[in-house]
Amino acid sequence: MPPLDALTDALGPAACLRAEADIAPYAVDWRGVFRGTPVAVLRPAATAEVAHALSLCAQMGLAVVPAGGRTSLCGAVVPGANGPASAILSLERMNRLRDVDPLDNSLVAEAGCTIEAVQNAATDAGRFFPLHFGAQGSAMVGGALSTNAGGIRTLRYGNARDLVLGLEVVLADGRVLDDLRRVRKDNSGYALRHLFIGAEGTLGVITAASLKLFPKLAQRETALAAVRTPLDALRLLARCQEAGAELVAFELIRRDCIEVALRHGQNIRQPMELSTEWFCLIEAGATHPAIPVRAALEGALAAALEAGEAADVVLCENEAQRRNLWDIRETYPDCARREAPGLPTDTAVPVSRIPAFLERVAALIAQRWPEGRMMALGHMGDGNIHLSLMAPPGLTHAEWKARAPDFEDAVGDISVELGGSFSAEHGIGQAKRAAMARHKSPVALDLMRAIKGLLDPQGMMNPGKVLP
Ligand SMILES: Cc1cc2nc3c(=O)[nH]c(=O)nc-3n(C[C@H](O)[C@H](O)[C@H](O)COP(=O)(O)OP(=O)(O)OC[C@H]3O[C@@H](n4cnc5c(N)ncnc54)[C@H](O)[C@@H]3O)c2cc1C
Repeated sequence: MPPLDALTDALGPAACLRAEADIAPYAVDWRGVFRGTPVAVLRPAATAEVAHALSLCAQMGLAVVPAGGRTSLCGAVVPGANGPASAILSLERMNRLRDVDPLDNSLVAEAGCTIEAVQNAATDAGRFFPLHFGAQGSAMVGGALSTNAGGIRTLRYGNARDLVLGLEVVLADGRVLDDLRRVRKDNSGYALRHLFIGAEGTLGVITAASLKLFPKLAQRETALAAVRTPLDALRLLARCQEAGAELVAFELIRRDCIEVALRHGQNIRQPMELSTEWFCLIEAGATHPAIPVRAALEGALAAALEAGEAADVVLCENEAQRRNLWDIRETYPDCARREAPGLPTDTAVPVSRIPAFLERVAALIAQRWPEGRMMALGHMGDGNIHLSLMAPPGLTHAEWKARAPDFEDAVGDISVELGGSFSAEHGIGQAKRAAMARHKSPVALDLMRAIKGLLDPQGMMNPGKVLP
């Protein structure tokens, strides 16, 4: 029997796609930058089936690329162009919520549940699941944990890693690590779950996760502040925190990004006169309506106006105003694509270094690519500003990339020099392996390779990703 027939027999034909047309959608990443040639797409529906599939793949020497919503941005979810024969192992059919427990403030979801489904289940149980990012309708629990996703609420609730109580993982040889715990304190040895979070499928397949829930927010207050400089934005962040404004999100947005959203977005209204170069989109929230969040935020904004750090502020009066501000932020990536090709980045620096970071990147652009436009918006509250170098009119993406091939690396280098990271929330995948080699210490790389060797001695789990 040809080897792939054993997989079809084990999983059933509907769970082992082998026709070219069925495989094609899984052979390319979200941005259409990375392409691979998987020999099959496996779609197990239960943990035992994942285990069976992995042990069969190990026996036949077939590499495995786990896949969730396939929204990751670094080429992690397609086989490498020159890698070994690989099957995609999609978790999309493992989409059951196994348990929701409001008293434990926990929820157990299978890896193929979308982040939005988890949010909705939490809401239905009178609780709140805070992970929130643009692709949450498609991104799945297994993928979000494997990339340690961040998003706009990291400031208050942490990254995906901080939201995990326990995991169920199938190892490369088919053994199941059942660590699906809900306990909040557990010092019984190494916290193994953290190895698999952020590992981008290189160490095993996450099949389910026990996730933390939080009390629902009973009130939200949203504001936009026009500030003169990133340093003034930083001061406003500190003012809000010191005032007890219960921040949920604090985003920094450059004026050009708002203008792009106004030009290309649908039904977006200009929220205020765009008289300064930088804007802060601030959201605060509390679990009880009596907590004086609005007063605290008002106080911080008034003090910033008084000090001359803010030129103008809008504190939303209703949901329509609030939605308009978030539409500017959230539709910007799509609007930017319509405006012109861009070279995106995903790096982080300590929050206090954001002004220096922006200054250094602006100087670099002025010196090397003065024809490009520095677009900047992102999560000021956690130091992760997404900078992009936008092409001048008339250039294709390929032409612009050819003119500025090392822009992303240069921004990563600046971030690392300022004590930050060349990869903030999107991971390494194939795209940043060279940066890993450049920036990670030899000791760190040795340890990572040793862990990889222990958990995946045949090198069959998502080969060619993460490790240089
Ligand atoms: C419009 C848009 C906005 C985005 N905004 C943000 C943002 O604000 N913050 C942010 O952090 N990211 C963001 N992203 C990136 C992306 O959505 C996240 O990285 C997300 O967490 C990926 O989830 P996924 O299910 O799509 O994973 P996939 O792309 O399917 O997989 C990602 C990686 O995880 C591995 N993997 C998938 N499932 C498993 C599993 N069950 N077990 C083991 N390994 C697995 C894959 O092999 C791959 O290496 C955005 C992407 C888009 C397209």
